[in-house]
Amino acid sequence: MSDPEIVIMGAPGAGKGTQSDHIAEEFDVDHVSTGDAFRANKDMDISDLGLEYDTPAGFMDAGELVPDEVVNEILRAALEDADGYVLDGYPRNLAQVEYLDSVADPDVVLYLEVDEDVLTERLTGRRVCSECGATYHVDFDPPEEEGVCDVCGGDLYQREDDQPDTVKERIRVYRDETAPVVDHYDDTGLLVRVDGEGTPDEVWADLRAAIEDALEG
Ligand code: ADP
Ligand code: AMP
Repeated sequence: MSDPEIVIMGAPGAGKGTQSDHIAEEFDVDHVSTGDAFRANKDMDISDLGLEYDTPAGFMDAGELVPDEVVNEILRAALEDADGYVLDGYPRNLAQVEYLDSVADPDVVLYLEVDEDVLTERLTGRRVCSECGATYHVDFDPPEEEGVCDVCGGDLYQREDDQPDTVKERIRVYRDETAPVVDHYDDTGLLVRVDGEGTPDEVWADLRAAIEDALEG
């Protein structure tokens, strides 16, 4: 069988990153996250493109999408190096769907369904390790020692775009630009909906079963 090609979708805070780590390990694929790629290159100089901001950070901190010409190139390079993938955070609009079609052929698109009130609570309580990127939640998944990563001992921080005002804008952008992508994959028959509101273990059990079904079918 060829290497699995898996897309995971869901609003900001739906649990894509948390579940992608399980998927990558279980199905032996690379976790490709455009959000992580931008966080690692947030001060990249894109001033020659004449866009609204001169770096990805400008768009990210405003809760907006980084323009397609920047993200598509990052995606192409990441997929070129991957032996199978779980793609997290892309595609986020219909033009990105078209671009993805030109460089890859996903087996399944998983959609984590989570209510908006729950998203806000998850995002504003999220904390991330500055060293290894591990994700925590102040109430739902706290580290053993406040502010310190269980995995590597690094300092935990709150993402700039997890502040309440930016969270609101990101959810609006998701509704306007990314929800049509979910409808698109529903129409093409690739979409599998999974309830994202259980505990992380419950969500993982459902997701794993959905992926096994999709890859067998
Ligand atoms: P996304 O990648 O979709 O933005 P994350 O995986 O980073 O979302 O999860 C957002 C926040 O919610 C994190 O703080 C994470 O610890 C927490 N979280 C993830 N899944 C669950 C869950 N099933 N129940 C409660 N909290 C969760
Ligand atoms: P995420 O970690 O997926 O929540 O992404 C954080 C931020 O990175 C988003 O709010 C966008 O500013 C940017 N970003 C990530 N993926 C994309 C994408 N596919 N298209 C445009 N911008 C993106």
